[in-house]
Amino acid sequence: MDKIQLLGLTGEELTRFVVEDLGESKFRAGQIAQWLARGADIDGMTNLSAALRAKLNEIAVANPVRILESYKSKIDETEKFLYALPDGNLIEGVLMRYHHGDTLCVSTQVGCAMGCAFCASTLEGRVRNLTAGEILGQVAAANRHIQTQDSERRVHNIVLMGSGEPLDNYDNVVKFLRLVNAPEGMNISLRNISLSTCGLVRRMYDFAKEGLPVTLSLSLHAPNDEIRQKIMPVAHAYPYSEVLAACKYYVEQTGRRVIFEYALIKDLNSDVRHAEELARRLRGLRCHVNLIPLNDVKERNLAAPDKKTVEAFLKRLELKHISATVRREMGADIEGACGQLRRRILREQGTGDREQE
Ligand code: SAH
Repeated sequence: MDKIQLLGLTGEELTRFVVEDLGESKFRAGQIAQWLARGADIDGMTNLSAALRAKLNEIAVANPVRILESYKSKIDETEKFLYALPDGNLIEGVLMRYHHGDTLCVSTQVGCAMGCAFCASTLEGRVRNLTAGEILGQVAAANRHIQTQDSERRVHNIVLMGSGEPLDNYDNVVKFLRLVNAPEGMNISLRNISLSTCGLVRRMYDFAKEGLPVTLSLSLHAPNDEIRQKIMPVAHAYPYSEVLAACKYYVEQTGRRVIFEYALIKDLNSDVRHAEELARRLRGLRCHVNLIPLNDVKERNLAAPDKKTVEAFLKRLELKHISATVRREMGADIEGACGQLRRRILREQGTGDREQE
């Protein structure tokens, strides 16, 4: 039987577990919750009796996520984590240091089903969804790791931009967002969280209605349906105009601007006429465009354009009054882009994802 992941329980669920499954008083649930918020494991919950800790260890884990390896960039202090899950699956994450605080990029699935042509995470498809506890566990594990270096530091911002499509794991992701925001838990402001989606339109409407003021990032990567369909299978399911309509709805519901992610790919979507077309499509929408020169993925035959092309694209958007920036590359020496590290490890182990299942 899978062990219960304490970190993934709401306050109510934890109380029920403590009272009904452990036969303990409600008061114990409060104690356990305090330990969990501090990132303790069960053995570290020293105000519980040894007998209770032993019993807990048999049926539960505090945090299901363990950092297996970490790599720190010599260029910019970006740190990359390889995490192990209870069933042996591996996921990865990146911690970036910005002036506005440490930002952790978390994964929401093992692998991904979306099939984008430029992305390393999707090469072997989706293995499984992560539980809410496994998503939160990444934050808890990263906090513990950085606090061994500096007790004042902690994850301040979160981007759901690691492996997986968050809206394809909707319930667990929404539960995670509520848990990570809980005042008695990690208490991270939802305004400091971005959720990135390839544009699952129906789920975008559901998400807009949740009343969670997170920033929506939309992976657009093209100025029209024709180009988008070449690199993103999801574009066959949801036309460009419907994706933009859903973004507009999100802006109306939450009052927050949408961030469009646009990976610049050589000879595909990076010409100034594509910038013109993009500007035309986005006119009137409260948004910002994040340009990302494509991270080369060894398995894919796609490359970033040269610097001049990137600059010209940016200039043309600005000329058309579209707010835009080029994303600074971080952790270039530690395979910062999603899916790359895990793939290398799997290759070295000689196991594909499917064989891992
Ligand atoms: N599934 C979600 C979130 C995960 S991907 C989504 O599609 O948004 C996070 C971001 O990284 C997305 O914008 C994705 O398109 C982008 N990305 C993936 N591979 C990339 C690469 N090789 N170069 C640049 N950006 C990439």
